[in-house]
Formats: sequence, structure tokens, C-alpha cells
Amino acid sequence: MPQPGRRAVGRSNAAAEQRERRRTVGRNYAAAGASGTPPDGCAKRQGGEKKMDQAIEKLRDILSESNNIVFFGGAGVSTESGIPDFRSVDGLYHMKYDYPPETILSHTFFMNHPDEFYRFYQDKMLCLDKKPNAAHIALAKLEEMGKLRAVITQNIDGLHQAAGSKNVLELHGSVHRNYCMRCGAFYDAQYVKDSNGVPRCSAPKIRAGRKDAKDGRGDVCGGMIKPDVVLYEEGLDQNVITKSVEAIAHAETLIIGGTSLAVYPAAGLIDYFQGKNLVVINKSPTPRDKYADLLISGSIGEVFTQAMP
Ligand SMILES: [Zn+2]
Repeated sequence: MPQPGRRAVGRSNAAAEQRERRRTVGRNYAAAGASGTPPDGCAKRQGGEKKMDQAIEKLRDILSESNNIVFFGGAGVSTESGIPDFRSVDGLYHMKYDYPPETILSHTFFMNHPDEFYRFYQDKMLCLDKKPNAAHIALAKLEEMGKLRAVITQNIDGLHQAAGSKNVLELHGSVHRNYCMRCGAFYDAQYVKDSNGVPRCSAPKIRAGRKDAKDGRGDVCGGMIKPDVVLYEEGLDQNVITKSVEAIAHAETLIIGGTSLAVYPAAGLIDYFQGKNLVVINKSPTPRDKYADLLISGSIGEVFTQAMP
């Protein structure tokens, strides 16, 4: 999820400008993203399809030749698995909640109104029945082939791991990790999903080291459980950022998919890229389109399915 109020990480306008100068020629615009034409209409028109075929072919070449690919993905990767982007607020939402998602998903709100937080979280954020889509599966396959070094994701659903990806850097955490705020006991997502209201720790009280714990039997900790997801007002995990910067800085190919790249600091990580191929796959234009060596406007799952070497 986006982290508005946070310090930009790795923002390097000079580097970006330098890349732009380098790339004034030889760009490949596959579809409508850069021209302002509605993306869905473009590929269907005569000529649009040919352009799309050429772009897919070019991506296939890049995937074939490159052995150091890093993928950076956002909500658009998960929406193709049926996980709603919480920012696309619908009518149903307005009927059920008194606050906007950005308010509910903040640290202050979590601490002050955990019941309301969990009502939203269990309903909208814990989509445990969803399955990986073609994009997740293709990325896992590329890693298995020794081509892809890392998946960096803004999503918290764990679908990359479910598809088989091993090196996944989760910038915003994961719904699959949950910890008791009192004793640190671990809980999986199902425990949180199954909890009636605010999930509470069921570990023996003695684990909490509390003075009133006598022999630890017959009594439970009862501490509030917090998901290991980065809420608004909270900082990103420095270790994950460091690993992400390292992966991007050393990548030969960086594929950005399913993200509008509007949100810092995650979007600022892209500035560390100094490799050969910058590929952007998105349904709508992004601020980085102009820097892309290859720009494909379309469904990320379909694009990967067609372009797999
Ligand atoms: Zn506990």
C-alpha cells in the first residue's frame, strides 16, 4: 500500500535525466500508454496488434538474453488474481465504513480503533482464497530458469511465494505474518481471518514474561495481534529496502509491472537502475514511461504468457 508522508528513498533526478538523454532514440512504444489513447482500444485496432506483437517479441528477446532480471510490481499484478486494489473505492465500501481506507490503514487508527481496523482488514485485505495468476507463475518460472534474481513487490498477499518464487522482497510486508504485540508470538493469516473481531494472542501467559504470570498454565497472553504489514505513518523495513536497492542497482533488466509508480519511497527505488533494459508493463501510463526502453500497455498476465521464452 502507498506510504504518503514518507521520506523519498533513492530519488536521483540526475541519474534519471541522464538515462533519458541516453534513450532519446530507439524507444519501442507498443501501445497507447505514451500517446494518451485508451489502452484497451489501441491494441485492437489495425496496426495496434502488429505493434503489440512486435513488443511481445522484443520482450521475449530480452527475457531470453538476460540472466539478471529484476521485477518490480504493484497492485496491478494482484488485481488479475481478483484481489481488489483498495484504492478503487466502491459504493459498497461507502455503505459499510465511516472512514476512507487510507485512514483505517494508518498506525494511529489501528491503535485507537482496532475493532474497526480489523473489520475492514478481514473483509478487504485478507483475500486468502485467491490464487496466483499467469504473471506470478511466469515470474516464478523465470527465477527457476536462473534468469530472474528478485521480485520486489508492493503487494502484501504472498501470491508470488504461492506461485513458487523464492526471492521476494515485500516492501509493504505480508498478511501471512502476524505477531502478538505483547509477547511476539507468530500467527498465520488464517488465525487472523478466523478471529471474531480483534485477534488476540492465545500463547501461554508465561511467554509474555509478565509479573502476574505464575506457572504459565491455564492462562493465555491475550495481547493484540498486529499484521506485519506497513501501515500509513510506519516506516519501511530498512533491510528490505537495502536488498531492493542492491537488486535493482545490479540488474541488467528491470521490468516494472502493474504499478502507477506514483508512490514514494517505493517508486524512488527505480532510480537506482543503471542496467540495459527498462521494461514497463502497465494498463495505464506511468511517470516512468518516457524512460522505458520497452513500453507495453496491457494485461501483465497475458503479456508474460505470450512473451515467455
Ligand atoms: Zn502474546
